[in-house]
Amino acid sequence: MIQIGGTRVVMEEQSVNERVKNFRSVPFGYNAEEAIAEAQRCIQCIHGPCEKLCPVHMDIKAMIREIVAGNFKKAFFIAKKDNAIPAITGRVCPQEEQCEGVCPFSLTCNGINIGKLEAFVADWAMNNGVKEGFHIEEKPEKVAVIGSGPAGISCAVDLRKYGYKVTMFEALHKAGGVLQYGIPAFRLPKDIVDYEISYLTEVGVEVKLNHIVGQNIMFNELRKKFGAVFIGTGAGAPQFLGIEGERLKGLYSANEFLFRTNLMKAYKFPEYDTPIVCGNTIGVIGAGNVAMDVARCAIRLGAKDVYILYRRTKKEAPARDEELQHAIEEKLKFIELVNPTRVLGNEDGWVTGIELLKMKLGEPDKSGRPRPIKIEGSEFTMKLDTVVEALGSKPNRLFLDQTPELETTRWGTFKVDENLMTNIEGVVAGGDAIRGNATVILALGDGRKAAESIHNYILRRRK
Ligand code: FAD
Ligand code: SF4
Repeated sequence: MIQIGGTRVVMEEQSVNERVKNFRSVPFGYNAEEAIAEAQRCIQCIHGPCEKLCPVHMDIKAMIREIVAGNFKKAFFIAKKDNAIPAITGRVCPQEEQCEGVCPFSLTCNGINIGKLEAFVADWAMNNGVKEGFHIEEKPEKVAVIGSGPAGISCAVDLRKYGYKVTMFEALHKAGGVLQYGIPAFRLPKDIVDYEISYLTEVGVEVKLNHIVGQNIMFNELRKKFGAVFIGTGAGAPQFLGIEGERLKGLYSANEFLFRTNLMKAYKFPEYDTPIVCGNTIGVIGAGNVAMDVARCAIRLGAKDVYILYRRTKKEAPARDEELQHAIEEKLKFIELVNPTRVLGNEDGWVTGIELLKMKLGEPDKSGRPRPIKIEGSEFTMKLDTVVEALGSKPNRLFLDQTPELETTRWGTFKVDENLMTNIEGVVAGGDAIRGNATVILALGDGRKAAESIHNYILRRRK
């Protein structure tokens, strides 16, 4: 029976008690029947508001139509046409602010579950060995892509579609950027990441791992050897509050904490040789996706009390709705309206607690959220074994210091024009390297735009 509108088809998930003991995916994903039932709710709005708000303008209506008809293969090709990694974006995009946010049914919190439908078709293709093949008319020019995160992946795939020879340089021993080392497996299973990344080699991208541009290989060498260069180096250098006690043992940046946990599999120590110190009581500073990821990892690493220390309230927290909801279900404790002033430690140099100042909310600031205002003299302390700062990050200096000729902004991001071209001809940049901390889908969109820009640049040079 066709069910237009109606309520969202509920997705089964691991129970809270079970999932806090493992790193497996929390949602189970739709099966074919559920996906069809959810897709049938779509009314195929004439102007397709969901598509307009998608940063890569996926053909969402057509994908949904094919799911309704049970043509999952066609639906997958439609998704893959504009998006190199639909199994990933389907799981991690902030859909409530994009496609799903403008769906007419979202007014009743019941927007079509576009993300999970996208993940369904991509998973279906993976499980059925269906791959997107495309004809490549090989061209002689070579392009270097620095960084294998979403920006680098989408740029490399599109460059291959144009026919260029692409070599990707990645500093780490695994490709994927934040998808690999930042977002935990219970949100984004690593076999899905590995599978989506294997597409790079399938379409003929040469991936060079353990290659740090600016250290193992110099940027100017790339400029000489390649017709154009794409910089997708992300924003992996952590930011700190700059308060007393940040050098104590037991204090981590979110990046280090997640890197150890996800990429180096510290949760399997000593089977894997990277340890992590995560005491019984842990305070996570910040309330974005990264903070939720840290806090939820800490629960799974065995912490008993995990506190989110935030200077505004839950209502203003920038984390995705789904992540916030999952975090609350997993019994993370929010301490709202506090700002850390000092990390406390013992004579052996280990964290023992934190001093916090109470805050109140004032008028909205530039972000549109109420400004947190200090309440002078309201300091109090709490005991903690571990502190993690999840305050955002910026592009790492390693690469920037090696390339002083490249113009950057005062935040350390690369300056680019409307075509993502830097001040050096033939050098294009995108993703977090130009935006600071943004999203996977924006990085993918930049990668596509950058590939087009490089293509136009090469055509101009040929004349
Ligand atoms: P990255 O993913 O950072 O990739 C950059 C790559 O470049 C890395 O692999 C790095 O090793 C490599 N590199 C850097 N310097 C060099 C060099 N000199 N030589 C060679 N290689 C180099 N976004 C969402 O949309 N949804 C989410 O739920 C979400 N959750 C997140 C959770 C966490 C913990 C974090 C940290 C971010 C999250 N984001 C999320 C943001 C999103 O992951 C990023 O915006 C996105 O990954 C940026 O892609 P990128 O390709 O620009 O950079
Ligand atoms: Fe379907 Fe919602 Fe998109 Fe309209 S906005 S076409 S109902 S998914």
